[in-house]
Amino acid sequence: MKKLKRLNKAKLAFDMLEKEMTVINDSDELKSYTGGDYYYDSSGNLISQTPTGDQLFVVINGVTKNLTEAGAQIQQNVVNNNFLSGTPFSSGVTMNSSSSGDVSGLSANGSLIIGANSYILSNYSSLESSIAHEKYHFDNNHYMIDNFTQQQQKQNEVNTYEHQIGLPGYLDTSNSYRSAVAVQLHLSRQAAGIESTIEQAKVDCLVQGY
Ligand SMILES: [Zn+2]
Repeated sequence: MKKLKRLNKAKLAFDMLEKEMTVINDSDELKSYTGGDYYYDSSGNLISQTPTGDQLFVVINGVTKNLTEAGAQIQQNVVNNNFLSGTPFSSGVTMNSSSSGDVSGLSANGSLIIGANSYILSNYSSLESSIAHEKYHFDNNHYMIDNFTQQQQKQNEVNTYEHQIGLPGYLDTSNSYRSAVAVQLHLSRQAAGIESTIEQAKVDCLVQGY
């Protein structure tokens, strides 16, 4: 949870490229999702899928890599071809290679941005849920920040997390992902002036043991 220190209320309010859910590594997590591991080619076409698992792989010249290590263009191909159908952002995804901490966000014109180094690219359920989060921002025009007061922007973030954790796909996410969402929900509530505890946020986010 070391990234907590980097977060402050001002960033939560003003950064459209959010510092969301950057605290964890899902690689050693239990896999509750049963959709299988996914294998794509470098153009983003699905090649194969195993019966269980949740990881995302790319096969490049016969070599299998985790999507997190595949390079921004291939990541972009995979996301555009497999995760954005029915999710009408202003345009397809842009990978942000410049910052290791940024997970996902929307640009000023409503395009999806995902951190090229983000752990959410390591598994299907995290990527899907994070994109659903951004889609809620998009559908409610949250990226048009001039339409909202600072307080409303803070409330928008709370509303978006609360929407995300109520979606069916959220039930497929790993416990470490949920823990990270809980931290961000807690911080967002505090930023918006809502009474909050991390324990309650973990309950709300269905973190195991809460
Ligand atoms: Zn958000």
